[in-house]
Amino acid sequence: MTVQGVYIPGDNYFLCPVCGFKKRVSEGRRRWDNEFVCVNDWEPRHPQEFVRGRADKMLPAITRPEPADVFIDVGDVTPEDL
Ligand SMILES: [Zn+2]
Repeated sequence: MTVQGVYIPGDNYFLCPVCGFKKRVSEGRRRWDNEFVCVNDWEPRHPQEFVRGRADKMLPAITRPEPADVFIDVGDVTPEDL
Protein backbone atom coordinates (compact mmCIF):
# COMPACT_ATOMS: atom_id res chain seq x y z
CA MET A 1 0.00 0.00 0.00
CA THR A 2 1.41 3.33 -1.06
CA VAL A 3 0.60 6.72 0.33
CA GLN A 4 -2.34 8.48 -1.37
CA GLY A 5 -2.05 12.11 -2.44
CA VAL A 6 1.72 12.22 -2.58
CA TYR A 7 3.50 12.86 -5.87
CA ILE A 8 5.75 9.96 -6.80
CA PRO A 9 7.56 10.44 -10.12
CA GLY A 10 6.69 7.69 -12.58
CA ASP A 11 4.00 6.19 -10.35
CA ASN A 12 0.80 7.82 -11.55
CA TYR A 13 -2.74 6.84 -10.62
CA PHE A 14 -5.13 4.81 -12.71
CA LEU A 15 -8.73 3.71 -12.26
CA CYS A 16 -9.09 -0.04 -12.10
CA PRO A 17 -11.70 -1.08 -14.73
CA VAL A 18 -12.93 -3.92 -12.50
CA CYS A 19 -13.35 -2.40 -9.04
CA GLY A 20 -13.19 1.30 -10.02
CA PHE A 21 -10.79 2.24 -7.26
CA LYS A 22 -7.99 4.72 -7.86
CA LYS A 23 -4.70 2.90 -7.55
CA ARG A 24 -1.06 3.53 -8.28
CA VAL A 25 0.42 2.02 -11.42
CA SER A 26 2.90 0.17 -9.21
CA GLU A 27 -0.13 -1.59 -7.63
CA GLY A 28 -1.47 -2.75 -10.99
CA ARG A 29 -0.82 -5.61 -13.35
CA ARG A 30 -1.75 -6.34 -16.93
CA ARG A 31 -4.19 -9.20 -17.27
CA TRP A 32 -4.47 -11.82 -20.05
CA ASP A 33 -7.22 -9.79 -21.77
CA ASN A 34 -4.87 -6.79 -21.89
CA GLU A 35 -6.72 -4.89 -19.14
CA PHE A 36 -4.57 -3.08 -16.62
CA VAL A 37 -6.14 -3.88 -13.25
CA CYS A 38 -5.17 -3.69 -9.59
CA VAL A 39 -3.46 -6.71 -8.10
CA ASN A 40 -6.64 -7.73 -6.25
CA ASP A 41 -8.55 -8.06 -9.52
CA TRP A 42 -5.81 -9.75 -11.47
CA GLU A 43 -6.63 -13.32 -12.42
CA PRO A 44 -4.98 -15.85 -14.71
CA ARG A 45 -6.72 -17.06 -17.81
CA HIS A 46 -8.94 -20.04 -17.08
CA PRO A 47 -7.40 -23.32 -18.29
CA GLN A 48 -10.74 -24.45 -19.74
CA GLU A 49 -10.29 -21.82 -22.46
CA PHE A 50 -7.37 -23.85 -23.81
CA VAL A 51 -9.31 -27.11 -24.09
CA ARG A 52 -9.41 -28.36 -27.67
CA GLY A 53 -11.95 -30.80 -29.02
CA ARG A 54 -10.89 -34.19 -30.33
CA ALA A 55 -12.17 -35.46 -33.65
CA ASP A 56 -14.59 -38.35 -33.35
CA LYS A 57 -13.82 -41.70 -34.98
CA MET A 58 -17.00 -41.97 -37.02
CA LEU A 59 -16.20 -45.16 -38.99
CA PRO A 60 -17.20 -48.56 -37.63
CA ALA A 61 -14.40 -51.02 -36.89
CA ILE A 62 -15.18 -53.33 -39.83
CA THR A 63 -16.32 -52.04 -43.20
CA ARG A 64 -17.00 -53.78 -46.49
CA PRO A 65 -17.66 -52.37 -49.94
CA GLU A 66 -21.24 -52.15 -51.01
CA PRO A 67 -22.21 -55.22 -53.16
CA ALA A 68 -23.34 -54.80 -56.75
CA ASP A 69 -27.05 -54.28 -57.30
CA VAL A 70 -29.12 -57.34 -58.19
CA PHE A 71 -32.03 -56.77 -60.57
CA ILE A 72 -34.76 -59.28 -61.25
CA ASP A 73 -37.01 -59.51 -64.24
CA VAL A 74 -40.57 -60.57 -64.62
CA GLY A 75 -40.79 -64.31 -64.14
CA ASP A 76 -37.60 -64.68 -62.09
CA VAL A 77 -39.69 -65.12 -58.94
CA THR A 78 -42.49 -67.64 -59.19
CA PRO A 79 -45.12 -68.55 -56.58
CA GLU A 80 -43.15 -71.72 -55.88
CA ASP A 81 -40.12 -69.62 -54.78
CA LEU A 82 -42.22 -67.98 -52.11
ZN1 LIG B 1 -9.42 -3.36 -9.01
